[in-house]
Amino acid sequence: MIRLFLKILVLILLASFTLNAESKKVVSQKPILIKNVNIIPMTEDNRIIRNANVVIKDNKILSINKPIPKDVEIIDGEGKWLIPGLIDMHVHGFADIDFGESYPTKGNTFFVDNQNVMALYVANGVTTILDLNARVDNFAQRNEIIKGNVIGPRIALAALINGGNESGRIANTAEDGRQTVRLAKAEGYEFIKVYSQLNKETYTAIVDEARIVGMKVVGHIPNDLQGRVVEAFIPNFGMVAHAEEYAKQSKDFRDEDINRFVNLARENNTWLSPTLTVIKRILDQAKSLDIISRLEGFEYIHPLMQDKWLTSNQYNKGTNDERIERLEKLVDFNNRLVMAFNKAGVPIVSGTDAGSSGVIWGYSLHDEIENLTLAGLTNEEALVSTTRLSASWLGIEDKIGTVEEGKFADLILLDANPLEDIRNTREISGVFVNGKWLDKEDINQMMMNVKKWNDDNKDKYKWKDRKKF
Ligand SMILES: [Zn+2]
Repeated sequence: MIRLFLKILVLILLASFTLNAESKKVVSQKPILIKNVNIIPMTEDNRIIRNANVVIKDNKILSINKPIPKDVEIIDGEGKWLIPGLIDMHVHGFADIDFGESYPTKGNTFFVDNQNVMALYVANGVTTILDLNARVDNFAQRNEIIKGNVIGPRIALAALINGGNESGRIANTAEDGRQTVRLAKAEGYEFIKVYSQLNKETYTAIVDEARIVGMKVVGHIPNDLQGRVVEAFIPNFGMVAHAEEYAKQSKDFRDEDINRFVNLARENNTWLSPTLTVIKRILDQAKSLDIISRLEGFEYIHPLMQDKWLTSNQYNKGTNDERIERLEKLVDFNNRLVMAFNKAGVPIVSGTDAGSSGVIWGYSLHDEIENLTLAGLTNEEALVSTTRLSASWLGIEDKIGTVEEGKFADLILLDANPLEDIRNTREISGVFVNGKWLDKEDINQMMMNVKKWNDDNKDKYKWKDRKKF
């Protein structure tokens, strides 16, 4: 017992040491005053605070409309709007990989500068992400960001567990499922993502073991539960990762099915991340690949991805009218589902599935917000989904998700009011990422550098040549 106590004490000491070391680094920066800004706080009552003075000190919001410290840097907020940084609840990272034959000591042969992906988030005011298939590389990335050595969003890490003969983390028995969860916990993952090929008993054991070790579960509804979807709704199944997970359980996309799903989700407190954008994009690509090169931000993604989406696009390969018609029905189903969930008060959060073909990191979250409103959410509800509610699902609503004193300074300064026109979330004047201010010029410079690297390396990264890397 005493030993355990000592161990805990050492851990606490280590933790406080780390915190001190960090804050020392940030302290050297002067406090920043955002003067005369309109705040959309995204708190529960969400009353707009007009012409406010906001002071940022270190990496936190020090004060709103309180006496201003003497020596401050000033940002003119006149006519601008301050909202919390955005949260993308469904992304996939871009990782170093070995496309060819491997052998011990070889390591990867394709390397990506993850900062070029982080830049896309930052430029778009995405200050927190949930990686739904995280891997070891992400821990190092996250640590460098938190230390302040590089810039990027806060990263929540989910370990994906699948069944069958897939690659990756696989479990096909209840005991293996439980052990896989315990290992993921030990490795430092914070959430579990369940995937389609899990059988029922393994799925049930995973969700239960995750509950025991304090990890929330998000993911797909396993195919094994086709026709008995009710059995997926067990305690600690915290979120369904796509609206189409429900669509798969509905033969003809009827409203009666939607009502049934709403009740299951509500009773089990299972939230929804509908990922409306990715299905719309899949539909676009099934019709034609013309959309790809016109995507906002396309020039900023790695040339290998650009080439893959253009030359080896699974959504366009062998496409036909039947596929297009099915996807159109799916888009309609997703919208109706979102509306019904919203009406019933089942929380909806914003996720994009960024990294999927046609879904660009950072940029796509603004599409998702807009798509939520096109499905029927109000502008305010769509913003709540992408800020406070997402923070709450992650369990960090005391730290981010609103503009309030004491919260981390993850903020977007907008040139126009997003409550009036939701597309105004794209009118970014500047971004605070963990207290670090980037104005429009900084952001443009950062993105120009990314584009330059991509342009310079375009010929080196052809998808068909990937085995030669
Ligand atoms: Zn995904």
